[in-house]
This record gives sequence, C-alpha cells and structure tokens, in this order.
Amino acid sequence: MADLTILGSGVSGLTSAITLLEHGYDVQIVTKEKTEETTSAVAGAIWFPYEARPFKKVNAWSLESFNKFKALSKDASTGISMIDYAIILNTSEKPWWLQSIPPDHIISDSVSGFYNKDYSGYIVNIPLIETPVYLPWLVNHFKSLGGSFSIREISDLDELNEFDLAINCTGLGAKKLFGDTEMYPIQGQVVRVSPDSSVRGMATDFHFGKNSEEMAYIIPRKDGIILGGSARLDVDSIKPDPEFSSRIIDYNSEYEQKLKELPVLETKVGLRPGRSEIRLEKDPNFSVVHNYGHGGAGYTVSWGCANSVLELVRKSLS
Ligand SMILES: Cc1cc2nc3c(=O)[nH]c(=O)nc-3n(C[C@H](O)[C@H](O)[C@H](O)COP(=O)(O)OP(=O)(O)OC[C@H]3O[C@@H](n4cnc5c(N)ncnc54)[C@H](O)[C@@H]3O)c2cc1C
Repeated sequence: MADLTILGSGVSGLTSAITLLEHGYDVQIVTKEKTEETTSAVAGAIWFPYEARPFKKVNAWSLESFNKFKALSKDASTGISMIDYAIILNTSEKPWWLQSIPPDHIISDSVSGFYNKDYSGYIVNIPLIETPVYLPWLVNHFKSLGGSFSIREISDLDELNEFDLAINCTGLGAKKLFGDTEMYPIQGQVVRVSPDSSVRGMATDFHFGKNSEEMAYIIPRKDGIILGGSARLDVDSIKPDPEFSSRIIDYNSEYEQKLKELPVLETKVGLRPGRSEIRLEKDPNFSVVHNYGHGGAGYTVSWGCANSVLELVRKSLS
C-alpha cells in the first residue's frame, strides 16, 4: 500500500490518520505545530453542528461522528462522555441540525426544569469531548497503531511532490498554502472557570451582541467550565480581550447565576477555520485529498469526515 502523509495534527488530521491506519495504510503526520498548539486545543468541546456547511453533508458527517463518540464514551480514558445539554433557540422553527441527533437522544422539545426559567429549544443527550484528555488519547492511539510525527511547515506546493499522497488537514493554514480565498478566520474567545458538578451545559443557537457575533455557551468539563463566546468573522487576532471575558461571564450568568462566583482559571482565543463549505475532495491538480474548513464543528464532524477521506484515498489509489 502507498505511504500516506497527513498535513496537520489537529482533530481532523489525527482522526483521518487513525482511520487510515486502522484500514491498513502506513501513515505519517507532517505538521507545523504540535497538537497542543492547534486551534483544536482551544475548543470546548461539545458535539454540535455549528458554523459548518453544507448542511446536508454536515448532518450526515455529524451523525456518523455521534455514533463513534457514543461508542468511545464507554471507555473513560478517551475523555468522552454523554451529557444532557440544553440548546436554547429564539425561534419555533425546527433547526436544520435536529436530523443529525438520533431520536432517542432528543430528551425534550423545550428547555424546562434545567434552569430557574423555561426557554424555547431542546434538551439533547450528546457527546462531551474533554479536549485535554481526548487529544492526548488520539495522539497515543495514533502512535500505538504505528503512526509517526514530524514537525515541519509546508510552505511551497512543490514540496508535496515528496509524498505519494497527502491528506490536507491544515485548517486555516490551507488559506495560505493553497491560496484558498473561500477561507476566513472565525475568532472565538472562551473563559475557563473552576469546575462545579452542579452546573449544567447549554448553548444559545442564535447570535447577539453589537455585531451579532456573540453567543452564550457553557461546557461543564472536569478541569473547569468552559464559557463562550464569540464568532467574529475575519478577525485573526488571538489576543484575549479581558473586557469581553467579563461580558461572557455576565451573559452566561443570566442562565446560571452560580457562574459569577466561580474563580476564573484562564482565557483563550482561537481561530475557527471558516469556509463557504467544508472542502472534502481530491485536488484536481495535486496528489492531495483535502479535509479542511470545518468552522465551529471540527470535532462534531471529525469521524464522518475521516470515513469520507478513506473513501477518497481508496478511489485515488485504485
Ligand atoms: C473557541 C472555540 C470553540 C470551539 N468549540 C467547538 C466545539 O465545541 N465543538 C466542535 O466540534 N468544534 C469546536 N470548535 C471548532 C474546532 O476547534 C475546529 O473546527 C477544529 O479544531 C479544526 O480542526 P483542524 O484539525 O481542521 O484544524 P487545526 O486544529 O487548526 O489544525 C491544523 C493543523 O495544520 C497544521 N498546519 C497548518 N498549516 C500548515 C502547513 N503549511 N504545513 C504543515 N502543517 C500545517 C497546524 O500546525 C495544525 O497542526 C471550536 C473552536 C474554537 C476556536
């Protein structure tokens, strides 16, 4: 079998690499940054299809990933668990992403009994991904299957001639490397406060704030509660804004008052790899299969996209 080179060691690169190794391919990862320095390491993360297109494919990839995460949740060492989570809506219309949730995981079609007040929306039972546990688990699993890493930036497309077939999982890096003008950063800031097992998870599936670029979400991890956040289109700074951190705590406290009392542990900013549509296809000019542009749903679609990468690799090599 041909040697495969994955570009990138975020969640997309690692998940694609593991899927290919599990199907008998030899795989190496070439990456500019180590996993802990990637956007993937900034994410909360909760399984939820957010800021990713096209909707139909995102639903299919998300459902495939849901089932895989559910299976992984049986093993505590993965950092995956299934939790009841509130999605708060400001409309009575059925959201597009509802189809990606298995019906027996839709607990309620209103958010009542979760907080002091009732809201429109859904309570769903979905995967929580504790990224500080899950990413090292992915790295170790990749290595245990025989995968290897090298730290190197690919700065010229001619360098790709060295590889039999490359899988491009460079996230926002693809903008520069492939001159992809459809890509844009979606800046997101999160605050981590001390853990409190009584705080329940939720997200508003609508944006608010001055430029409609804020939303509230609470991800109750064991190492702390992640509070979000922002979705600032085309903003590429990763400098935290302390004033905005206070606002994040304020508006999440409207749902869960306890949050105001919990000590702040850290603030992080990451750049989601935004794109008009996720790019998952064989490049017409290079020996490259693309898998990037997952926006705010890189974890949510990861296993489904990796299965599509496997299909494209098989086709490319046949
Ligand atoms: C605040 C925030 C919260 C989020 N919450 C969630 C969530 O709850 N659920 C969810 O599903 N998603 C969430 N996301 C989105 C998710 O983090 C991203 O979609 C995902 O991390 C993208 O992963 P990736 O592997 O494609 O890219 P990245 O993690 O960015 O990895 C890209 C890799 O490519 C490498 N690279 C780039 N250019 C080159 C080059 N030229 N040569 C070699 N290597 C290169 C980088 O070094 C890196 O290793 C969130 C994101 C943010 C910022």
